[in-house]
Amino acid sequence: MSTFPQTRLRRLRRTGALRDLVRETRLDRRDLVMPFFVGPDTRANEGLPALGRYSVADLPREVEAVAAAGIPGVILFGIPDAKDEEGSGAWDADGVIQQALRELRERFPELLLLTDVCLCEYTSHGHCGVVDEHGVLNDESLELIARTAVSHADAGADAVCPSDMMDGRVAAIRSALDDGGHESLPIVSYAAKYASAFYGPFREAAESAPSFGDRRGYQMDPGNVREALRECELDVAEGADVLMVKPALPNLDVIRAVRDRFDLPVAAYNVSGEYAMVKAAAARGWLDERQAALESLTAIRRAGADLIVTYWARELAPSL
Ligand SMILES: [Zn+2]
Repeated sequence: MSTFPQTRLRRLRRTGALRDLVRETRLDRRDLVMPFFVGPDTRANEGLPALGRYSVADLPREVEAVAAAGIPGVILFGIPDAKDEEGSGAWDADGVIQQALRELRERFPELLLLTDVCLCEYTSHGHCGVVDEHGVLNDESLELIARTAVSHADAGADAVCPSDMMDGRVAAIRSALDDGGHESLPIVSYAAKYASAFYGPFREAAESAPSFGDRRGYQMDPGNVREALRECELDVAEGADVLMVKPALPNLDVIRAVRDRFDLPVAAYNVSGEYAMVKAAAARGWLDERQAALESLTAIRRAGADLIVTYWARELAPSL
């Protein structure tokens, strides 16, 4: 192997054109998905514009801008006007997500409509399943989660994305979708979803903070990576079509491990806290938001993610 001075790695860094030519990882807007919050009314979020929410009537205008920028898909989160113990708004045929799906399906036949499937935005206690005095009940929650997924499929979703972290939910959803005539609808499983502090701004936006306890009894411990692979293995066996890791930046090694072990497409969720940190620092003039965002997303792709859910999708798309 030749070495310095014959070998000089700086040769290929000399100009922008050379650097572009040999770049190993590229960002493409076709790999990005933009999240949207749909609620009973429209509320802007000054500091974190992508975490504002829209009424069903106002949503299409925003989605139009995202579609026009070349983003292939959106993922929808619902905020109902009323919550109950079971989270029945989640599978209501006239729920906020179901209405939004029908509206968007009609107006944007080509756009990919993904939906987050969970109960936490719809339950009065804010947990991702039904609860009793002992905590969140796994098996009792499965049927409600599966029912929610089918209602999204019926309303026009292109893929459902279960994020509750109950054991067995992918199998329950797959079987309910198949029984409901949706055997072609893919499941994008939040397979390795960690109990993370980086969800903070999302919980505010989605009004889904638990009213008691926390989610560590079902979401993963941030210290674990082998367990993430077991989660993925089970989801693959249960019929998941895409595996997601969430959050992305604190878990780049997990994304890499999942990429190396499985041949399914890997998704990563660049979560609200990752977006908020950069926004806040940029607002103080401490870093350049655009460069920091591009670097973050590039790192997530380099770690092995095929697609990224990110609040920057809309802003960055025109330059990707
Ligand atoms: Zn949830």
